[in-house]
Amino acid sequence: MRPDKLSNYRGRFAPSPSGLLHFGSLIAALASYLDAKHNNGQWLVRIEDIDPPREQAGAGIEILNTLESYGLHWDEDVLYQSQQSALYHEVLAQLAEQKLSYYCRCTRAQIKAIGGIYQGHCRALSQPAHASAIRVINTVGISQYNDVIQNQVTCNAELAQEDFIVLRKDGLFAYQLAVVVDDIYQNITHVIRGCDLLEPTARQLSFYQILQHKAPQFGHFPIAATSQGFKLSKQNNAPAIDKNNPIPSLFSALVFLGQQPPNELQTASVDELLTWAIGHWSITGVPKSQEIIL
Ligand SMILES: [Zn+2]
Repeated sequence: MRPDKLSNYRGRFAPSPSGLLHFGSLIAALASYLDAKHNNGQWLVRIEDIDPPREQAGAGIEILNTLESYGLHWDEDVLYQSQQSALYHEVLAQLAEQKLSYYCRCTRAQIKAIGGIYQGHCRALSQPAHASAIRVINTVGISQYNDVIQNQVTCNAELAQEDFIVLRKDGLFAYQLAVVVDDIYQNITHVIRGCDLLEPTARQLSFYQILQHKAPQFGHFPIAATSQGFKLSKQNNAPAIDKNNPIPSLFSALVFLGQQPPNELQTASVDELLTWAIGHWSITGVPKSQEIIL
């Protein structure tokens, strides 16, 4: 590798195996892949399989097969969050030792009754009660940050200051814990993902500070929504993309991401299309709206 090609960039795509890849998740895979490859970086894939009740048997392997047939080849081994429990427990123990976390037994209904923002009611609770969650003492409360696509992002300050859950009442690791611990573990430097995660990013930035670790750079592209205004997601049964016919979906995803692919690419091979897309990738071309109706 020539010295001018060296890059510390490490990006990732982190799907949960709750269903097959649909157009919305293809956009996430493609945007993170192109930004990494355009910057001579590494692109990793992590399967976020820490919520078994929401998972679909065989979806993880199907997602990987689809990425391969779309030419989105990852660097390094795939990381499975289900294999990371020991590390998550280590971080939970470290937080407890530093007195930065506490047990909480409040119900969703109780929090809703006080306006929906958790007010630290259980901070003084020293003993774990039956079915307790664990919350982090949010000493940071970041509510504004710089985004490589959206520029300045401002989130609800009250929500950003909330003590957030790191271990759920049902004993499952919370998304905020797993995602930040794994991004640190994998030395991720750039996270490119959808605008539905603008608010969680503020919490995650706070969490990086609490853990005294440098945060990656974040960029949020608009989410794809249906004409009824619903986000394309596995939960609302967005159709899976065709594993055997990648070009139409890849082309549409490039258009969605504001990359203006030439029409000839509609009859190109996957390799030709991706080579063009890597070379021409423009993060500033990505629309700054939070949602685009398909
Ligand atoms: Zn509580």
